[in-house]
Amino acid sequence: MLGSLARWLRILGYDTAYDNRIEDDEIIERCRREGRIALTRDRRLTQRSRLRGCLLIEHEELFEQIREVLKAIDHEISPNRLLSRCLECNSLLESVDKEAIRLQVPAYVFKTHSHFKRCPGCQRIYWGGTHRRNIYQRLKTRL
Ligand SMILES: [Zn+2]
Repeated sequence: MLGSLARWLRILGYDTAYDNRIEDDEIIERCRREGRIALTRDRRLTQRSRLRGCLLIEHEELFEQIREVLKAIDHEISPNRLLSRCLECNSLLESVDKEAIRLQVPAYVFKTHSHFKRCPGCQRIYWGGTHRRNIYQRLKTRL
């Protein structure tokens, strides 16, 4: 149910695990093992006391949800953290030498960008520093 929120938390650079088929007991176990805060819309889950950190997401609207999370962890969005993680697998992206990825991106992208990052998890290539600043400005006005 919180798939969009999870994706946006990754865009914002937060270490975000997401699995919509996971059972409550597994959520609790994984949060304990990995030191995570569970985000849920399920009030029953937040009432189970063994969980160290569990945040009930009250709002339906995405940006309200993001605001709830940022408030709970007492963070503001940071331009440096933005787009620092792979949106698919959550790994921290690494800067990569432009020549090394020449054949892995479309020719026009290679020509028009100078900075690239690679996901060490799934090998996806990311680019677009200007894009990042635009997203940051847009988010700043909404959050
Ligand atoms: Zn990845």
